[in-house]
Formats: sequence, C-alpha cells, structure tokens
Amino acid sequence: MNADIQDQEFLKSLKILYVEDEEDTREQFGKFLTRISKVLITAEDGSEGLEAYREQSPDIIITDIHTPNMDGLDMVREIRKLDKSVPIIIMTAFEQIDYLKRSINMGVDKYVTKPVNGSELYETVLDCARRLLAEKKLLSAAGTDPLTGLINRRELMNRFMSEKGRAERHGTPFCVIIADIDHFKNVNDTFGHIAGDRILSGVADTLTSSVRTEDILGRFGGEEFLLILPETDLDAATVVAEKIRSAVSDLETEWEGKTISVTISMGVVKFKPGMGMDECIQPADHALYRAKTGGRNRFVVAGD
Ligand code: GH3
Ligand code: MG
Ligand code: MG
Ligand code: MG
Repeated sequence: MNADIQDQEFLKSLKILYVEDEEDTREQFGKFLTRISKVLITAEDGSEGLEAYREQSPDIIITDIHTPNMDGLDMVREIRKLDKSVPIIIMTAFEQIDYLKRSINMGVDKYVTKPVNGSELYETVLDCARRLLAEKKLLSAAGTDPLTGLINRRELMNRFMSEKGRAERHGTPFCVIIADIDHFKNVNDTFGHIAGDRILSGVADTLTSSVRTEDILGRFGGEEFLLILPETDLDAATVVAEKIRSAVSDLETEWEGKTISVTISMGVVKFKPGMGMDECIQPADHALYRAKTGGRNRFVVAGD
C-alpha cells in the first residue's frame, strides 16, 4: 500500500480528543475531525479535556489555548505528567507568541494557527498519525503488543522455545497458563470497544503485577494472555493461577460513571520434554474450555 494511503487509513482507526470552548469552531472542526478519524471526543474546556483524556485514552489531542476553567496549556501540562508521548496539537492565534514558546517547553508537538485552515489541520493531524504508525510498527517488530505493552504472540513463541531448551537440557519443570477474559464480547457490546481496550490493558497490568519478574507474560491474541512460568511445577502454577484469578476479579475499571469488572478463566499445563508450543497449548486450551463450561472465573489443570 502507498505510504500516504496507509497513514490515512491508520488515522481512520484513531481516537482524537478535541478541546475548544467556542461552539461554532468546535462544531465546524468537529465535523471535519469526525470524517478523518474513527472516534472524536470533544471537550469544552481544559478540565473536561483532562477528564476525557483520563477516561478514554485518545491517540491524538488537539486543543485550543484559551479555554475557561482550566486553560488548554494547563491541561497539556497535566497530561504530560501522565503521558510523555501522546501527540498534542495546539490551535493558536499567531500573535500569541509567548504562549507558543511556553507550549513548546511544555511538550506540545505541533501547532496550527487560527483562523484554522482545514488542509493545514489535516496535514498536521496526519503527521501525528504517521509518527504513531511508525512507532507501532517498531514495537511490533520488537515483539511488543502496542495496546497492553506486553510481548506479542511471536515473542511468546521465542520465549517458549528458549524455556523448552532450558527445561530439556536441565530437566527443570515449567508450566504454561492460558487465560481468557470471560464474556468479553458482552463488555464490548455493552460499553463499547474503547472501554474494552481500557479493560484489556488494565487486566494486562494486573497480571503483570501479580507474577514474578522472571515469569513470562504476553498477549496471545484478542482477549487471551499466555503465561510461561519457568522452574515452576504444577502445584506452584495452580497457586499462581488462583492468585491472578482473584486479582483480576478484584479489578474495577471506572467507565462513564459505572464500574466494570471482569473475570478470567484459565487452563494450566505442565510442559513435557519434546512438546512444541502447539502441543503445549492444545491441552491448556482444552483445560480452558473446561473452565469455561464449568462456570468461568476458575482454572482447570490439563489432564485432571
Ligand atoms: P468467553 O467467556 O467464552 O471467552 O466469551 P467471550 O465473549 O470473551 O468470547 P468471544 O470469543 O465470543 O469474544 C471475544 C471478544 O473479545 C470479541 C472481540 O471483539 C473481543 N476482543 C478481542 N480483541 C479485542 C481488542 O483488542 N479490543 C477489544 N475492545 N475487544 C477485543
Ligand atoms: Mg478559546
Ligand atoms: Mg477468547
Ligand atoms: Mg473470552
């Protein structure tokens, strides 16, 4: 695909937050931004913008400088404390040169001058999308899943193979847990994909903090995670499974005034010398299936 078309298509998959207090301007550019992105979130001032940022994790932020309640630049400063990388574009009147200098120090990436010209705004937003896409490709080439920050399926395969090598050379045991979020389609259907994504990364964080640093955790695909537990026998693996089951069920995600909770089901398997990744996953998957049919929010050990 032509690089420019690829960038445009990628932009169409992104979420933009647009902060502007003037209603006419907001409507005019809101319509425009809706056409070029997947989701547009609008906010009328900096404090609304900050709240929208926290709740909805936009991919790109566009903000007016002067807004009531919380100034656009104060919002930028708050967002930069939480996130060093999200692209931020400010809209500014050309004479506000000292504001412009301050904004650059604060971590604004780009600016467009008012009165805003549609094609200039488009090019600026597209440029941000271009950067995000390049970063995403780099992460994926490095074996990282962009949404959760965990390693991806390909990297899990590499890590499985080196664990297999170690286990076969030294005769040490290791176990694998496959975890799948329960009824996740319902979550998306009820709260939307953005909420779904937020929960996925929350579950990833919870899993990360529930396991040891030497354990290998990755996103296997969709709403499935894979955990490889080096030098761990089945008894210890079931302790881990119970620990993460409980930690995930305790996780609460605030979303548009509601609290969302999810559970996971798991299949646990012990590696046997000679097994390839697929041969190890298959019994784990079968055990996972039994955990699902047995009522979910539980784990089943393969072969039990
Ligand atoms: P079960 O308890 O049997 O696992 O039910 P389920 O609904 O979780 O399973 P199903 O396989 O029917 O649906 C999985 C859902 O996960 C559907 C899909 O849209 C969602 N999903 C997968 N990847 C992502 C993602 O990256 N983001 C979001 N928001 N949803 C995702
Ligand atoms: Mg204003
Ligand atoms: Mg699944
Ligand atoms: Mg599921």
